[in-house]
Amino acid sequence: MNEYDSGIVRELFKKENYESATTIEDSDIIFLNTCAVRENAHAKIYGRLQSLGYLKKKNPNLVIGVLGCMAQNLGEDLFHQELPLDLIVGPDNYRNLPELIKKIRGGERDVQLTRLSKLETYDELEPKVINGIQAFVTIMRGCNNFCTFCVVPYTRGRERSREPESIIREIQGLIDLGVKQVTLLGQNVNSYAHEHSDFAVLVEEILKQTKIERLRFTSPHPKDFPTHLIDLMAGEERFSSQIHMPLQAGNDKVLRDMKRSYTQREYLDVVDMIRKKIPDVGITSDIIVGFPGETREEFQETLKVVKEVGYDMSYMFKYSEREGTIAKRKFIDDVPEEEKSQRLIELVDLQTKISHERNNSKIGTTFDVLIENTSKKSKLELCGRSHCGRMIVFPIPSGESSDPKDWIGKTIPVQVESASSATLRGKAVRG
Ligand code: SAH
Ligand code: SF4
Repeated sequence: MNEYDSGIVRELFKKENYESATTIEDSDIIFLNTCAVRENAHAKIYGRLQSLGYLKKKNPNLVIGVLGCMAQNLGEDLFHQELPLDLIVGPDNYRNLPELIKKIRGGERDVQLTRLSKLETYDELEPKVINGIQAFVTIMRGCNNFCTFCVVPYTRGRERSREPESIIREIQGLIDLGVKQVTLLGQNVNSYAHEHSDFAVLVEEILKQTKIERLRFTSPHPKDFPTHLIDLMAGEERFSSQIHMPLQAGNDKVLRDMKRSYTQREYLDVVDMIRKKIPDVGITSDIIVGFPGETREEFQETLKVVKEVGYDMSYMFKYSEREGTIAKRKFIDDVPEEEKSQRLIELVDLQTKISHERNNSKIGTTFDVLIENTSKKSKLELCGRSHCGRMIVFPIPSGESSDPKDWIGKTIPVQVESASSATLRGKAVRG
């Protein structure tokens, strides 16, 4: 989402005829677009800002700004920490950036704009954030869920959805530039709502009106997963059957304290329903360990659900208390750091084992793979994703072109030959 927002900022400055600098040393303006979801995201930015101090000494006209959720969350406190910093701007105020830069150039100091908006969706900017053959498109901003651990509703404000016409126009523009795969982004895509359009209608319209080869999305909230969306996934070849469905915790009391609005049973029922309709679905998750009050027994229930669902992959985190959240006001962050670390190790070990088993079970299967790139390790290998979101690495097929460029963007059948916990490896087979 932040990559996409950085694209919005680039687009705004392009419109003002600014040029993109080629190196950081050449820049007259540097923005750090920041995250506030966990404390280590903040820590990274403090380190990065300090490391930019030497550039300020070399170039007295250099403007350094902090954008995004950390700016919104900490506001002017950031100015009181002796950091090389001129500007703080929140996620809803990027349109004001060029004018704020002028103010700084005119001599104003410590300039800040962190006003949340109920309306801003940056609709017409359509920044076209492309990475090879794939791109992200934000379809909505903000969040109304107020999960008690989460800072997002405070840093990104109330939920609002982009116009379908603008989203479809942006996707068509991406296709014209060679993009084959688009990932739709929102904090809770299930609550996308624009006049008569909901998320499933939006997906149907995108598939009907464009020739995008593969459409993915993240994230849906397990509490209101529309069955219509699952039917669409089961029936539509171009709609990826990969679902990122954050569990967060397995115990009902912890889920209630987190205000996740589902129980363990309800979550597992959604998974059952999805697996019945799409047997080869790829399911991934976000999980937090050490939420306030979570006992060892309650944590065991997280492990139980992870085993029962058998996620392909999970992002796993230690609870990090955030400024302004309900959990910070209501609960004490009472699980000791070592205990959080211990639980994280146990969870990561379990998930790695499950990922490996799930990948092993795919050996022998042939998947249609949309080729995204050469593999990280070798230019002689290609990598891409199956319809269900699994990453597969395989050698460039012999006998035809050996230039990866001729392959990237194509969809070809690949048979899985071996597996680790993170990747499947295989070979191309004749379709
Ligand atoms: N909107 C997305 C989540 C965005 S934040 C969703 O609901 O699916 C990404 C993930 O960060 C969350 O799913 C959660 O697992 C994690 N996270 C959020 N706040 C956190 C906190 N205070 N401590 C630890 N992890 C947190
Ligand atoms: Fe945060 Fe919950 Fe909203 Fe996700 S749904 S952004 S976890 S408040």
